[in-house]
Amino acid sequence: MVCEFEPAPRFIPPARAFPCPRESRARRLVKVPLLDLVSQHASVRSEVEAAVNAVVERQGFVMGPEVAELERQIADLSGARHGVACASGTDALLLVLRSLDLAPGDEVITPAFTFFATAGAIHNVGGTPVFVDIDPETFNLDPTATEAAITSRTKAIVAVHLYGQMADMGSLGSIAETHGLTLIEDAAQAIGARRKVGGEWRRAGELGQAGTLSFFPTKNLGGWGDGGMVVTQDDALAGRLRSMRLHGGTREYLHEEVGLNSRLDSLQAAVLLAKLPHLESWSAARRTHAARYAAGFAGLQSVIAPPTDPLNEHIFHQYTIRAEGRDELHQHLTDNGVGNKIYYPLALHLQPCFGHLGYRPGSLPVTEEAMTTVISLPIYPELTESQVDRVVEVVGAFYG
Ligand SMILES: *Cc1c(COP(=O)(O)O)cnc(C)c1O
Repeated sequence: MVCEFEPAPRFIPPARAFPCPRESRARRLVKVPLLDLVSQHASVRSEVEAAVNAVVERQGFVMGPEVAELERQIADLSGARHGVACASGTDALLLVLRSLDLAPGDEVITPAFTFFATAGAIHNVGGTPVFVDIDPETFNLDPTATEAAITSRTKAIVAVHLYGQMADMGSLGSIAETHGLTLIEDAAQAIGARRKVGGEWRRAGELGQAGTLSFFPTKNLGGWGDGGMVVTQDDALAGRLRSMRLHGGTREYLHEEVGLNSRLDSLQAAVLLAKLPHLESWSAARRTHAARYAAGFAGLQSVIAPPTDPLNEHIFHQYTIRAEGRDELHQHLTDNGVGNKIYYPLALHLQPCFGHLGYRPGSLPVTEEAMTTVISLPIYPELTESQVDRVVEVVGAFYG
């Protein structure tokens, strides 16, 4: 066995001459990984393998019937008329943003507390990301700060439903409408999440001009590689995106515009279709674990459990606490075999590649407070209660 406290060797020697010094101690620890895709796969193996084999037997790998079926089912799940599958969540953002036909200097408002792709895509279509601060409880775009950042160059808002909880789509929707802006939902972390807007349950991707999803393996609905989708109510936009993902052709060898090559493989669609019937129960299991964590952390002054906005049904892509002494807690968890990760340690307004935009430390105080205090704990559906309790115990032990 390769000692996991060491970097993986470049070659495995035929016999290990020296025992790994910490192996026996590591064995005694109850390990809780941050994510366990192997146990998820074990629970769906027969369905997924059958679906994949059907594609293999047919030898139809690109844009097969599985892709159209997945588009239909994900659109339904998102309360949208159309789903347009593509190669990744990043490409989904890129395709939607390209459809805005931005001119140099056009601005797109977005949070800085998100995965890099959100702002990277804005930059890559020639737009200027305008970073706005977040709500301290939900970590999502602050509508007041959003409205204050609108200028004559603003064309769109990209709201991110961070960690699986929807942004305030009611307020952002009316701001976008008042100012004539396109509202896009980066729902990569929030597939199937819901929010009450105007008294009605609305899905992630239902209310924006478009919502973008990712099927990256670690997302709540993950494929066996990269994948993504745009969902939208807009017939014309859906048509344009379908063309843009195939080099901008409206029919074979006729190109109205220059697009991308961004398709979803039939194999990925088959995997995702086989997993999709489980998604709702997986999200429910995540909520159950979150409630158990919240009860476990209730007595700890130094830990703030993530509040769910009462208007939201959270899908807990991540379970992200704010913690005193975060960096030391990170080390303590790691030393005790509890998987954890910091999403995100350096907000996008402070990234070197966006230095030319002129943000400084202090520009977005709530974001900067979040990036220095957050830490995400294991929340995958297959966790057992005793694993959740073990995480609570290890966190509790850190604070004495
Ligand atoms: C994962 C993610 C993306 C990008 O999705 P990929 O499929 O990895 O390209 C975009 N935005 C957010 C918020 C994400 O979490």
